[in-house]
Amino acid sequence: MENQLFIHNTLTRTKEIFEAINPPFAGMYVCGPTVYGDPHLGHARPAITFDLVFRYLLHLGYKVRYVRNITDVGHLVADLDEGEDKIAVKARVEQLEPMEVAQYYADRYFIYMDALNVKRPSIEPRASGHMIEQILMVQKILDEGYAYEVNGSVYFDVEKYSKSYNYGKLSGRILEDLLANTRTLEGQDEKHNAADFALWKKAQPEHIMRWPSPWGDGFPGWHLECSAMSTKYLGDYFDIHGGGMDLLFPHHESEIAQCQAAIGHESVKYWLHNNMITINGQKMGKSLGNFITLDQFFTGTHASLQQAYSPMTIRFFILQAHYRSTLDFSNEALQAADKGLKKLLAGYETLGKLMPSPLAPLPEGEGRIADLQRSCYDAMNDDFNSPMVIASLFEGVRIINSAADKKEDLSSPELTGLKTIFDTFLFEILGIKEEKGGDNHEVVDGLMQLVLAIRQKSRETKDWGTSDQIRDALQKLKITVKDGKDGSAWNIE
Ligand SMILES: [Zn+2]
Repeated sequence: MENQLFIHNTLTRTKEIFEAINPPFAGMYVCGPTVYGDPHLGHARPAITFDLVFRYLLHLGYKVRYVRNITDVGHLVADLDEGEDKIAVKARVEQLEPMEVAQYYADRYFIYMDALNVKRPSIEPRASGHMIEQILMVQKILDEGYAYEVNGSVYFDVEKYSKSYNYGKLSGRILEDLLANTRTLEGQDEKHNAADFALWKKAQPEHIMRWPSPWGDGFPGWHLECSAMSTKYLGDYFDIHGGGMDLLFPHHESEIAQCQAAIGHESVKYWLHNNMITINGQKMGKSLGNFITLDQFFTGTHASLQQAYSPMTIRFFILQAHYRSTLDFSNEALQAADKGLKKLLAGYETLGKLMPSPLAPLPEGEGRIADLQRSCYDAMNDDFNSPMVIASLFEGVRIINSAADKKEDLSSPELTGLKTIFDTFLFEILGIKEEKGGDNHEVVDGLMQLVLAIRQKSRETKDWGTSDQIRDALQKLKITVKDGKDGSAWNIE
């Protein structure tokens, strides 16, 4: 039951049974970040999506090698074949070495992915560290006759390739349309066809990121690193290649063509793509300038944010949508996610306090708790349907709360079953962790007890000035105080 996993393959546009090429091993390659800016919400979605895939494959017992690259060279502004390197632009503006920029933002990326509880991949190769592999791949494609050299640059010959293979099979693009639609660009006269793409670019004298090659000093085309590094670490035929839907074309289409041309066959069995995060219906991205960084989310320091949102709220918000659906950002949606997550965690806490009722235990694998567990597996096996898993967890909370209210009974095996469901699905697979303020939390609690004691004393002595001052200050901080028979309780809204 647990390993009849179906995944949606973008290449065939159908859900297929996942059958690892070489079980119990599974290889997964995911396109990682281009490190030239702070990570934003658009980075969080693919990282969390493929973290979910990684975690579930591990749970099913696969020995997963997960490779996610770091693009530190070759990704040109506006994702084109001409123009400046994104990292070189940042380096020039900030007067830094390009590798200083890449190191700085790669470190920032790790900090924020760690906060989101995204597991680190097995290997995180950098494009700049794999020049020899990339040059060898260009040479192989040249030798096979699917590329040509012009003035120290090498281009992939899409028209020649299309005589034998289907360039466009992943993205559904039609070659004739590509040739007709591509705008004429400066320097494009080097290309035989507008649809051709750069494998190697000659470095102009002012270009600071350059490496020697058989064709002169230059740098690799952006699509090349993923073909070279995925096959280096996962073999020339591996299980899963993932990335955002925005990478379907031309990036992944070109990866397929490069591998087919260099190796003689395709390198990927299943292509997985997560959909995009939109903000007011518009795509988010560094290039579009409408992005909110993760730092801004965590601290609430962006004009369009009503408050700070914790890393787990962001993670839960993303997992509440299926990875192939679009996800539209709004304060309301994030606040709802925050509320929902708190409800799940509170349910888990209540579960720990429940006492079993002396019911005769059901045979293992029977009853509503066993059904609930099965529905969680069914959801994950149906192309990683995290929103359906979350719906089942809420059903679990309903049962827990109902037992806490003494409206129904739970036997000892049922309580254990519920705990297993939460431990497995909420924490291990969805990757939620409890966010406790740690030492800070204790300090805040201690201070609040002190403030409330002063407030109580001022009321007893009818010092209304002090009591009102405390009330107003707490209101400003959105702290609500509830007075009861056993003293006062406080809560941050
Ligand atoms: Zn890639």
